[in-house]
Amino acid sequence: MGKVKKNEILGILDGYDKENITIATLGSHTSLHILKGAKEEGFRTAIVCEKGREIPYQRFDVADEYIMVDKFPDIVNGDVQEKLKSMNAIVVPHGSFVAYAGLDRVEDDFVVPMFGNRDILRWEAERDLERKLLVEGDVRIPYKYNDPSEIDRAVMVKFPGARGGRGYFVASSNEEFNEKIKIMKDRGWLEDKDVENAHIEEYVAGCNYCIHYFYSALNDEVEVMGMDSRYESSIDGFVRMPAKDQLDISMSPSYVVTGNHPAVIRESLLTQVFDIGDKLVESAKKLVSPGMNGPFCMQTLVNDDLEVICFEISARSDGGTNTFMGGSPYSHIKYGEPMSMGRRVAREIKTAIKEGGLEKIIT
Ligand code: ADP
Repeated sequence: MGKVKKNEILGILDGYDKENITIATLGSHTSLHILKGAKEEGFRTAIVCEKGREIPYQRFDVADEYIMVDKFPDIVNGDVQEKLKSMNAIVVPHGSFVAYAGLDRVEDDFVVPMFGNRDILRWEAERDLERKLLVEGDVRIPYKYNDPSEIDRAVMVKFPGARGGRGYFVASSNEEFNEKIKIMKDRGWLEDKDVENAHIEEYVAGCNYCIHYFYSALNDEVEVMGMDSRYESSIDGFVRMPAKDQLDISMSPSYVVTGNHPAVIRESLLTQVFDIGDKLVESAKKLVSPGMNGPFCMQTLVNDDLEVICFEISARSDGGTNTFMGGSPYSHIKYGEPMSMGRRVAREIKTAIKEGGLEKIIT
């Protein structure tokens, strides 16, 4: 199977009635504000919804059309794609869309116009490629260890795939690394092939800020839309226990995201915030032409030297954008009206339709 060609997508877009575009997404992750934001900008909305998962969308009434599927990955099935195209749909991707549809199928056989740069999704999903983007951009990242035998201070050990931190752990020696691998395997959270691909990096003792940017390809501008910090189980419950009890029970914390808190960062750090966002956009232009397009997120830790250190990125709507469905302090400063990430995406599409630049933002 060849990759979906941009020309093919532009051909489909050519046949669309531009006065009647539908904004569509998979019903999960950040679909509430993607669809609500689209409605606020005057679009029709459609949701591809797994049977049994329709309640939030009905209760919040964000979708004009429902395309019901037995399971999420069916979004790439031929009949679903035909329905989407018949609605003049532009699909807005998010983390669950990529996870459920599968990168290969998004790249090779999802022939529906999508907002953003389809090719960059692989770069955020594969840790080596993600790292390349950050290194090329000269963004400050945690020090990486090539082998557990080199561990000489506290490290964070991670494994491939978006797994909500399941199986991740902290260690400070090779022995501790081996012990914890065993615990995680016994628990069924890791398999041998995960262990071969363990990613070991410096543990940054700092505060978590996940910074949500929007890169407007139409204006060539990086906007800071909002920030969140993660609420993770079991670590965030674990730290509510007195230290003595933490030591007594031999529990290994995990980092499964269960929700998000809105956050703001010290104003003096905003210079770094814009700087790393600009740098990532520049490196993406070089490595994955045409580069970023729309929402992206830099997950950072700020240490006590006030360095903003980026440990992960996403190149599409990130889950933490759910903290500002009605706007954030930053989007308020910029827009002065409620501006969620979903609404910002819809506004970009609206502007492109009006000014004739849709081919710049659709792949
Ligand atoms: P995933 O995206 O696979 O869920 P992350 O890379 O976001 O996992 O890591 C999960 C959590 O672990 C983060 O939210 C953060 O709290 C913590 N974390 C990640 N990398 C580091 C690091 N280098 N130092 C300290 N904590 C980290």
